[in-house]
Amino acid sequence: MSKWEENIRRVTPYTPGEQPNRPGMIKLNTNENPYPPAPGVTGALRALKRDELLRYPDPTASALTGALAREYGVSPEQIFVGVGSDDVLAMAFMTFFNSGRPILFPDITYSFYPVWAEEFRIPYECVPLDADFGIRKEDYFRENGGIVFPNPNAPTGVELAAEDVEEIIRRNPDVVVIVDEAYVDFGAHSALRLVEKYDNLLVVQTFSKSRSMAGMRIGFAVGNPALIRYLNDVKYSFNSYTMNRAALACGVAALEDRTYFEETTKKIIETRENAKRVLREMGFCFPDSQANFLFITHPELDAKKLFEALRAADIYVRYFAQPRIDSYLRVTIGTDDQMEALYRFLRDYTKGLK
Ligand code: PMP
Repeated sequence: MSKWEENIRRVTPYTPGEQPNRPGMIKLNTNENPYPPAPGVTGALRALKRDELLRYPDPTASALTGALAREYGVSPEQIFVGVGSDDVLAMAFMTFFNSGRPILFPDITYSFYPVWAEEFRIPYECVPLDADFGIRKEDYFRENGGIVFPNPNAPTGVELAAEDVEEIIRRNPDVVVIVDEAYVDFGAHSALRLVEKYDNLLVVQTFSKSRSMAGMRIGFAVGNPALIRYLNDVKYSFNSYTMNRAALACGVAALEDRTYFEETTKKIIETRENAKRVLREMGFCFPDSQANFLFITHPELDAKKLFEALRAADIYVRYFAQPRIDSYLRVTIGTDDQMEALYRFLRDYTKGLK
């Protein structure tokens, strides 16, 4: 080993879902929205002038933070924006989790959390979910260096009841509690209403799922102005211009079309509820999801083999080779047509079973 290699910050990177791009494929593996973004979004892109692109963007991203503040009924000082919620979460880990005490998150959750913790040398403990993949709030009533969990959780889709979320925040006044609401717009309850009440709460959301803009990379956090100031200090210590001009313009345009947002999220919720009925009839089991995906298992099927068979048929879902969940597949809710193609495949695949 070369001498310089002794000084490397070694990390085990997060593995993103594969991003195949085959004509006719059915892509249900990374929880993207199957519908395109609001029409105004491409309008905003087209309206970008060449002369605008030669200038740096607004480092404070004020057009977007202002639009978000109006949309969510808070002040712009309570909003932080970043390059997808991954960027926001990474900054939040770095900013808030510095006590030396272990932070807590569920054992089955977004697999980026342990990656950031390792990268930033933050000690952590994974708290087991209960047998039904639920978060037990009592497990978080103990000394810790901070708490983070998605609500609804990923990859399970299970929502923690609003009163339990509040109790976790209330019982941990000395640390920052991050509620990662990447999937909240598909029928779950947001903790946003609690940011005025608890100064240790940071709610993180994204434009990648409910606003159909995974390709634009826009995420945001809402919290009290002091939390947001600390986050911005860390951001400006890295890169003043995280949000490019196109993302800023498109983000504002997406927020202007609430009707479109409501229609498309409603449609996905309907398709999901129908998927629950259809898959149950085929013998699949799953925790009740409030997200834009289902976490399915079948008592008579090997999940990895099914994953591979689906893949060979150009239907992409997500398989996690991980203890406790290696008999499950995470299936993103697509359009009705995409789901019908999935059901056809699965009906055929399960035909031989009793
Ligand atoms: N949180 C959770 C729970 C997620 O599943 C994802 C999507 N991979 C993210 C955050 C990050 O999404 P994005 O960076 O696209 O906003």
